Amino acid sequence: MSRILIVEDEESIAELEKDYLELSGFEVEIETDGSRGLGRALKEDFDLFILDLMLPGTDGFEICRQVRATKNTPILMVSAKKDDIDKIRGLGLGADDYITKPFSPSELVARVKAHLARYERLIGSGMPENEIIEIRGLKIDKTARRVYINGEEKNFTTKEFDLLTFLAQNPNHVFTKDELFREIWDMESVGDIATVTVHIKKIREKIEYNTARPQYIETIWGVGYRFKM
Ligand code: CA
Repeated sequence: MSRILIVEDEESIAELEKDYLELSGFEVEIETDGSRGLGRALKEDFDLFILDLMLPGTDGFEICRQVRATKNTPILMVSAKKDDIDKIRGLGLGADDYITKPFSPSELVARVKAHLARYERLIGSGMPENEIIEIRGLKIDKTARRVYINGEEKNFTTKEFDLLTFLAQNPNHVFTKDELFREIWDMESVGDIATVTVHIKKIREKIEYNTARPQYIETIWGVGYRFKM
């Protein structure tokens, strides 16, 4: 039986969601405090989370961010304001779905079922654990194509992600800009080795504490770059 955690401080709403989900055969737990909800979400095994945004303790944004940093479990965010939904999307927190209050219970149940089915297909397909590279607070999730610095997700373009991952997978190896360009961009690409410099600069702005003294990607003057291990 699928187990769902609802984190919602309006008890009447939480109970309504719980009733409908239980009628559909789900096991449902409720937490009305954000911090307690986050603690349980991280420690216990749930199959899906339904998170309200505005909560006492830890808010829904933060719960979503912290859960997503370690779990692939589907997350449905619930908000009373359409603006908040836009904000969650913009933040790229990794939520799977967004529902605006008031919503019909049957709509909620339908969405929960759809996300669980999709998630179970992923799990059931014997999908291996996400492949992750972790170096001094930098975490690259190769499977989900996400990058985190000290737990905070950073948005990367496709090429920035490919370049960073390539360098991190070959630490201490000095690559010339030519080599990097050939590795990451295909032959038909518009651009030249200056593209590499531009991308390295953008990556540093996202991952380095001090871009003047990079601790991850080092410039080897007159040669190229290397990822420091
Ligand atoms: Ca609330």
